Amino acid sequence: MSDSLLKWANDPRTAGVVKSLGLPAPVRLARSKGGYVAQPLTGQNFLLGGSAAGHASDVVRSLLQAAGANVLDSLPPVSAAESEDKGKGGAASPSTGDAFKLHGVVLDATGVRTPDDYRLLYDVFHPLMRRLAKNARVVVIGGLPESLADPVAAAAARGLEGFTRSLAKEIGKRGANANLLYLERGAEDRLDAPLRFFCGARCTFVDGQAARVTRLAAAPAEVPLEQVLKGKVALVTGAARGIGAATAERLAEDGAHVVCLDIPADRDGLYDTATRVGGTPFAADISDPATPGRLVDFLRQKFGGVDVVVHNAGITRDKTLANMKEHLWDLVIAINFRAITAVDQALLAGGVLRSGGRIVCLSSMGGVAGNFGQTNYAATKAALIGYVAAQAPLLAAQGGTINAVAPGFIETRMTAAMPLVPRELGRRMSSLSQGGQPRDVAELITFLASPGAYGLTGNTIRVCGQSLLGA
Ligand code: NAD
Repeated sequence: MSDSLLKWANDPRTAGVVKSLGLPAPVRLARSKGGYVAQPLTGQNFLLGGSAAGHASDVVRSLLQAAGANVLDSLPPVSAAESEDKGKGGAASPSTGDAFKLHGVVLDATGVRTPDDYRLLYDVFHPLMRRLAKNARVVVIGGLPESLADPVAAAAARGLEGFTRSLAKEIGKRGANANLLYLERGAEDRLDAPLRFFCGARCTFVDGQAARVTRLAAAPAEVPLEQVLKGKVALVTGAARGIGAATAERLAEDGAHVVCLDIPADRDGLYDTATRVGGTPFAADISDPATPGRLVDFLRQKFGGVDVVVHNAGITRDKTLANMKEHLWDLVIAINFRAITAVDQALLAGGVLRSGGRIVCLSSMGGVAGNFGQTNYAATKAALIGYVAAQAPLLAAQGGTINAVAPGFIETRMTAAMPLVPRELGRRMSSLSQGGQPRDVAELITFLASPGAYGLTGNTIRVCGQSLLGA
């Protein structure tokens, strides 16, 4: 469903009216087309900040440069063109091509251990806040709090989350976002793919998040930069439409052969998606107790295994608990929770998930924050958060990872069916003042499914434009 306010706010003929009415003016978000490229940050100015006590700066500098970025240690003085540009209403006005644009900032805050060290945050960010371009990216890298023995050091690292989330809220009106990577000591070599993702256009709707980069999962033999899923087989459930269809497309763009699963009643949509992505359709109800076994046999016989599993199929059956019929409760638990664990158990028991396998579960903002009328749905989506955290260590020795993504308001048939007022509130109550696209979720899933994401496992990452609901 199209977002009229987004159109009006970005049309010079109507932008003034939007402003004078005091309505939110969402920025048109930058998005990438096609699959991964070797240098996604080409031509972009990134400031790299940090203190001498940090341990990530050297690695980050060389990774950003390898990704094509122009890495700066300090900001150039404000030029006349930049002043003029700002006078016209924004650091990234396309009208003055020669004005300096700051496309991103990476702060190595791994040396932050004490309250005094927080001065680094002010000293780095205060001077640049008015110079960030539209759609800029901020990535803060902090120490992993649970690995720090000193309580004050652990507290200082954890506080970076509050800083980053607040910063994200301040820069969201420019379409810019900020995220935090908690980095385990010794996992610096695992930053390449996460930096490419969080510094690039593909994380346009992932905002105000904290993800852990750890040494838990064994490293893959090879980490390609382009066609990152070439030769891999991916299973996407619920692929007939919405986020599942976008995910199948996105995985195929990076070379995966996608097995698209959906219910027989959605056969038309399922075959459309499978044909479009050059994949294989598999019609089945994921909650049918016979499905996991059928699926394992099919994947083994046809492909010899599977590399990526995206548990996307999910339903809502909303009612207050007082009004909820027993069968609606049971149906949501069966599809959104039991079916996922049953498929994984069958894949693992049958040795069908290949080493270095990637599992991604679709949780939801409702699972993080809870939602009125969604006790059944939120219970299942929160269960998946616990599931990925508990399953991660069990897959790690074989180089397997498992993560959850928690979408916020995404423009799909599910949200188009909402009444006007909750739909508008869902769209606007976020730092970016707009809904996300299915492709935005598919980008996060594709990143987590890629070989380069071996440093991330057990995480739940929201893709919600930093919705004001929940943590
Ligand atoms: P959608 O309703 O557009 O698509 C879901 C797909 O899953 C459909 O094609 C449906 O046929 C399929 N499906 C349902 N039950 C199935 C079953 N038993 N077996 C096989 N396939 C089945 O939903 P969407 O908006 O694309 O959401 C996809 C996932 O993302 C869901 O898990 C949903 O809970 C989650 N999510 C979506 C949003 C959003 O804003 N759209 C927000 C948070 C979480």
